[in-house]
Amino acid sequence: MADLKADMSDSQLMEKYGLSFQGLQDLFAKLIHAKLATETYFQKRAMKQAARSVEKDAESTCPYCGYRAKKRFTHCPRCNQDVSEWLDTVELTKILSFE
Ligand SMILES: [Zn+2]
Repeated sequence: MADLKADMSDSQLMEKYGLSFQGLQDLFAKLIHAKLATETYFQKRAMKQAARSVEKDAESTCPYCGYRAKKRFTHCPRCNQDVSEWLDTVELTKILSFE
């Protein structure tokens, strides 16, 4: 719990304890079950982290041509492909790759 209060991110926790993404979710569920934390706490935590990762990952990469931009884009300025759905996939892959 000290680590949660120290405001570690999910990925940092997974790294520290060698947990998979699912393992971390199980841990959170156990903490809630043991009344060591509330569901609301984890919801707020997830929202805060999502907001933070958007700021941090402001740089986007086009999956078609590899163009990189400082700002998020839905249409690649170089090859003009619609990458809005791709960027979500990239985010998802990033999350799942912690497994
Ligand atoms: Zn492109």
